[in-house]
Amino acid sequence: MKTISRIEKETRKRKILVVDDEFVNRSILGNMLENDFELLYASNGKEALDIIRSEYKTLSIILLDLLMPEMDGYQLLEILSNDENNYKNIPVIILTSEKSAEIKSLQLGAVDFIPKPYDIPEVIKERIRRSIKLAEENKLITAVENDSVTSLYNKEFFYQYAKDMDTFHSDMQTDTAVINVNRFHLVNELYGRQAGNGLLRAIADSLRKLLRKNMGLACRCDSDTFFLYIAHQEDYDKCISELLNSISKLSGLSNISVRIGIYENCSKELSLEQRIDHAMLACNNCRSTYNSSFAFFDDKLREKEIFYEKLVHSTDDALDEKQFIVYYQPKFNIKGDKPVLSSAEALIRWKHPEHGMISPGVFIPLFEKNGLIQKIDHYVWREAAARIAEWKKSFGITLPVSVNVSRVDLFDPELEARLLALTEENGISPGDLMLEITESAYSDDDSGIISVINKLREDGFTIEMDDFGSGYSSLNMLTSMPIDILKLDMGFVRKMCSSETDRQMVGIILEIAKFLYVPVIAEGVEDEQQYRTLKNMGCDLIQGFYFSKPLPPEDFENVISKSLQAL
Ligand code: C2E
Ligand code: MG
Ligand code: MG
Repeated sequence: MKTISRIEKETRKRKILVVDDEFVNRSILGNMLENDFELLYASNGKEALDIIRSEYKTLSIILLDLLMPEMDGYQLLEILSNDENNYKNIPVIILTSEKSAEIKSLQLGAVDFIPKPYDIPEVIKERIRRSIKLAEENKLITAVENDSVTSLYNKEFFYQYAKDMDTFHSDMQTDTAVINVNRFHLVNELYGRQAGNGLLRAIADSLRKLLRKNMGLACRCDSDTFFLYIAHQEDYDKCISELLNSISKLSGLSNISVRIGIYENCSKELSLEQRIDHAMLACNNCRSTYNSSFAFFDDKLREKEIFYEKLVHSTDDALDEKQFIVYYQPKFNIKGDKPVLSSAEALIRWKHPEHGMISPGVFIPLFEKNGLIQKIDHYVWREAAARIAEWKKSFGITLPVSVNVSRVDLFDPELEARLLALTEENGISPGDLMLEITESAYSDDDSGIISVINKLREDGFTIEMDDFGSGYSSLNMLTSMPIDILKLDMGFVRKMCSSETDRQMVGIILEIAKFLYVPVIAEGVEDEQQYRTLKNMGCDLIQGFYFSKPLPPEDFENVISKSLQAL
């Protein structure tokens, strides 16, 4: 099959559009070319444009006169060169008797000239054949070099041309940058794939605009990640704000945010791949996933990265050696006169032999990126379930413990079976093991997650929505989401006593939750004033340093004993 289509390609008659207002000129050319080519004719630019619109996919070349009524050759060239539908890829040869017209038409994208009056037919045919061949080869190369969605280079050619740039401009200071769209999957999910592709093209066009003013090149690496290799920029604030404005203008999406990592004044001793890695590291280090932000690479970042890599590599051993310790932080019910211990949250710590106690704030985000988080979560769930059973035995009470459930856990088809098995093995009921699911896992959704949560609730597990108010979700989401307890984000509590708006916000959330019969727990309560304010506003439960920090199990047992004595 391959051979046949190749032969067909080689021998097929190429289609030519001859555009000239003089009938005589058209027929002279027609007689010369008709045996070798398939011919179409137009007598002015307008007619030509109509034919191009319907035939552009099969047209091999346009032979264009310059001086014509209605629409002349220059106007047509201009339209073709600015067109979005790849009309500009059809080569144009100018038919002219004026030498002076050459420069202007070349600037507008013509590939060659055939001087009038026409002379030796074989020479003319050869010029046409050569232009067609060049254009076809160029198309092939472009298809290989370029990403089909954005027409930017693909990664391989980007690296190749960036190396050429280094060779030919060895003294030039350069920067690498990596650009990534925050929560790109949401754009696809909310607005559809076409809008997603539109956004990618808007980014590509904005980068091209930047590169018109600065030497450099760009590529789309994969999905929503772009690389930039560019002459050093002095003012990134300005450069990035122009880029962002252009992206939102071209995409028509105003709430898009990107993160950009920049490695300035690259060391040319590093390979281009390493220079891009540095920018990537800076990009991954951008703090916000909600707002656009940019960060620069520096050596501290590199050290941090090495530290992280070491942590990741030592995780399996750490699990075997029980370096991970589960701490427990009490939660108190504050509805009555005196606070009453009602449950606890299991929080992991890493007692590292070399680096001492490492907070989950350091390693959890790391593990969320590489899938290790599931191993850690399973470990914590097992520990917590065993602890509930143990306390049941030693204290004769059931103290429910909540564990954190990560977003990836919710996609595990074994999740429900795993949790049920845990409760069974330890002789506790699902209601004793509460599941904290962070708000962003809900708002990223996808009905899939909601149905998983519904299933878990049917099994009897209590679902706490963690960190409410830290993400994107709106208040009215509360009415439709499957939750048993709402956990107010620490940020509210922290600001509540100094900001009236935050205090009012907490008030509104408490009202809505009350209306929905969903108890609210405030976390991060550190002082008397916060505690009093929340109590007066009708908050049900409190977790925070005001009562207790997270404690190792032995110390937590003292909290249980004390609370039993107080009863
Ligand atoms: P989180 O689930 O929202 O946990 C609450 C965090 O607030 C804990 O931080 C806790 O120590 C801290 N905290 C509690 N009361 C106060 C207070 O009064 N003031 C202040 N400043 N902080 C308070 P921690 O233990 O460092 O954990 C941080 C985050 O790491 C957790 O946030 C959770 O998202 C994650 N994490 C911890 N353990 C696990 C785990 O086993 N699995 C998963 N997936 N994530 C975990
Ligand atoms: Mg939590
Ligand atoms: Mg929380």
